[in-house]
Amino acid sequence: MHRSLVTIDLAAIRHNVRALLGLLDGSELWAVVKADGYGHGAVDVGRTALEAGASALCVATPGEGLELRRALPRARIVVLGDTGSADLAVVREARLELSVSTAQVPEGVPVHLKLDTGMGRWGLSEVAATGSGVVGLMSHFASADTDPEFTESQLSRFLAATASHTHLPRHIANSAGTLRHPASRLDAVRCGIAVYGISPFGTDPSADDLRPALRWESSVSLVKTLAPGESTGYGCRYVATEHTRVGIVPVGYADGFRRDMTGTEVIVAGERAAVVGTVSMDAVSVLLPAAAGLGDMVTLVGDGVLIEDHARASGTIPYEIACGIVSRATRSEREAVDE
Ligand SMILES: *Cc1c(COP(=O)(O)O)cnc(C)c1O
Repeated sequence: MHRSLVTIDLAAIRHNVRALLGLLDGSELWAVVKADGYGHGAVDVGRTALEAGASALCVATPGEGLELRRALPRARIVVLGDTGSADLAVVREARLELSVSTAQVPEGVPVHLKLDTGMGRWGLSEVAATGSGVVGLMSHFASADTDPEFTESQLSRFLAATASHTHLPRHIANSAGTLRHPASRLDAVRCGIAVYGISPFGTDPSADDLRPALRWESSVSLVKTLAPGESTGYGCRYVATEHTRVGIVPVGYADGFRRDMTGTEVIVAGERAAVVGTVSMDAVSVLLPAAAGLGDMVTLVGDGVLIEDHARASGTIPYEIACGIVSRATRSEREAVDE
């Protein structure tokens, strides 16, 4: 038995892709599967998203694109990140499309010209070149999840800067833009987090008809009863005030159960249980419900425990929790299920 098991529900991925497509009025859905599909598995998610109606897959680096190309020979693959140092022969051979932020457009590769409309990272301030290699014009929202006014201003700048190039497909929306700013959907949307059924707003994803696809479970590998005054974990930060049963779960921050997730809740034997004490590299302690014992299943994500909840407990965004979950064979196991 592995220390933990990550299960990806491909039916949920399909549902989310269809829910997003249902919002679109003719614009294409491009599924963003960078960072190994936000920790969900880029190949499984990418293949499922395409089957469900997505038109292209987006990654961050040429290396991610090459890996995806080996598994999905026919997919349209767009590299979103900075590709200034990419090996163009390899990119051509793998039929990747690049995003380019310089007036100098590489030869013989389809490119999307990136405009900076307020993100303040890569991007040109105007459309500097539109040779035959340019297949799209793009920009990226900085705060579509929190700031409607700034988002609208970014959209206006993008529309103005691209007004004389409307023969080229234009795309700017991420998940939050797609869900909250219909005018930003343009010719294509690039959705990542929503495809996984995670809310870009850090709130309940079901409000936007999204279903979480990732389930993470482990089990109670040791039961300890602490006497009053005894503690569990590094730094003795949790001290029992009465006889207290704690369960040790063999998952820690090296698995992506972050050290700042102390206090978050998981499910043990069907009941909510608090994570107490310091999270170790390879283990955490949970307060055991009365009915729980050795070997009982612990749901770290799933059964109502949301990645959004853990993000709130640790003061970060759900993206970082999802990407951080380690499902390498030496630590845990990941499988995709489809029913
Ligand atoms: C990651 C990324 C996206 C997807 O963002 P979500 O918030 O996950 O939907 C879209 N566009 C670009 C350029 C990105 O880097």
